[in-house]
Amino acid sequence: MEHRVLGRTGLRVSILGLGGFHLLEIPADEAVRLVDLYLDSGGNYLETAASYGDGESELKLGRVVRRRRDECILATKTGARDKEGCLKSLDNSLKNLHTDHVDLLFAHSVATDDDVSRILGPGGMVEGFLQAKREGKARFLAISVHGQPGTMIRALKEYPFDAAMSTLNYFDRCNFPELERDLIPLCIEKNTGLIAMKPLADGFLWRNVGLAMRYVWSLPGVAMIVAGANSREMLEEDISLAGAFAPMTGDEVSALLKDAEELGDYVCRQCDECPVCPRVPVKDIFRLEGYYDRQMRDGKPRTPPEFALRDRLRFWFQNREMARAGYARLGIDASKACDGCDGGCGPCRYGLDVPFKLRYAHYKLAGDVEAF
Ligand code: SF4
Ligand code: SF4
Repeated sequence: MEHRVLGRTGLRVSILGLGGFHLLEIPADEAVRLVDLYLDSGGNYLETAASYGDGESELKLGRVVRRRRDECILATKTGARDKEGCLKSLDNSLKNLHTDHVDLLFAHSVATDDDVSRILGPGGMVEGFLQAKREGKARFLAISVHGQPGTMIRALKEYPFDAAMSTLNYFDRCNFPELERDLIPLCIEKNTGLIAMKPLADGFLWRNVGLAMRYVWSLPGVAMIVAGANSREMLEEDISLAGAFAPMTGDEVSALLKDAEELGDYVCRQCDECPVCPRVPVKDIFRLEGYYDRQMRDGKPRTPPEFALRDRLRFWFQNREMARAGYARLGIDASKACDGCDGGCGPCRYGLDVPFKLRYAHYKLAGDVEAF
């Protein structure tokens, strides 16, 4: 399995990291067998969090770590935003993991500007990490953000985090265009180790696992994908994909973005060739729709399982209020924008019916059931 340098940490990580969340779903003995299989297969990065099962994931991983600490780069996360909470959480994690130090300690699931201010401010989590580092309990500081790229970018600009973990996949690139446009270049510029999570968009890309993983591994700056597994088959598939990885060519990426079933003729690719509309900022409205529900509800009939999957995932990042506030600030009624326009937008280059989608986006962003 290929190994890459994780930014300024200098650590050499396998391109497949093993996340500990899904170990909650299986008995401890099976979890131990999976972790051993992963390490035996050339993987070297184990990641968990204090909050996963209130320590249960750490306890399961700890059964392997106590035997194989020298073979792995170990990471855990704390949800504490203050110094004392961070130190307490880390001590508990070290006990659960049967080790005296972790390699990476994450500020976990940082969501808002207020979170960033608390972490970086006096008495904040970063002070806790720095004390832990002096005491030899943690080596590097990392941050994870779920679906709020602006928060991550602000945090990285204000503090030299060693590593950053973000959603990255070919579906959410359309919903959060800042991830590839701004976050990746920033990480490269600052030599922040970039760790990708959610390569399958929380399972939405289950039909195209191989392409989804290859896409993320091919992104510039990405050191590894952290993926969870709750079965031997799932882990073996990921290991096999990592072993066979070859970078996607530009043509392959273009074809994927054009033809991917999950994008279809509804999801806005946020491409650079969007025709300029004289009345409304089309791309901005569709970006807000991506923030709102990842453009997952598209007005098309679905089978009950597919509808249920979309319904479960569309508000995963809980950005609805942010998206609606952004739409209100535009001061536009997108449901009426195309009335009487002789611009006559046909399908755009990706087949999107732009006037229909503007009306549907308004329906979501304004909560306006009259729009349909
Ligand atoms: S051309 Fe279509 S896919 Fe591209 S930005 Fe415009 S609406 Fe979105
Ligand atoms: S039809 Fe709608 S989206 Fe197209 S140019 Fe006219 S107002 Fe703009």
